[in-house]
Amino acid sequence: MSYGSWFQEHGEKHKKIIEKLAHLSDDELIEYFRFGNMVKNEPDFCPLYAKNKMCHDNKELNCYFCACPNFRFKDEGFKQVEKRTLFSTCGINSKDGTQYISDSAIHQNCAGCFVPHSEQYIKKHFTRDWFEAMREVNRG
Ligand code: SF4
Repeated sequence: MSYGSWFQEHGEKHKKIIEKLAHLSDDELIEYFRFGNMVKNEPDFCPLYAKNKMCHDNKELNCYFCACPNFRFKDEGFKQVEKRTLFSTCGINSKDGTQYISDSAIHQNCAGCFVPHSEQYIKKHFTRDWFEAMREVNRG
């Protein structure tokens, strides 16, 4: 699956949950997206839930802003960097982000970055419309 297809599918799943929980306040909604609750109540939201596995080993993990509003990608690539294609970057150059570099590709590596998973960040950038929150992600 391309990142673009995943992005669309994931946004649709997010939207369905938000519609189902329209009666909750913003704070309650954010709490609902805490990892421990999502594993129990939304098993299809993330493939890691089946193994009760976190993408970031942090008990504060909140899944509301998965993916990340700061992620930038283009399935066809942004540009060539010597012999490699640059497919994704971090829009804020987070100090905790790195790059996966293979012989032919460069991808943003967010494994060490917790920015979009903290509730402080989620509250600051909160919107019930996931696609609106992610509007810059695949703009190119
Ligand atoms: S490095 Fe952090 S802020 Fe940047 S795109 Fe990845 S998760 Fe988002």
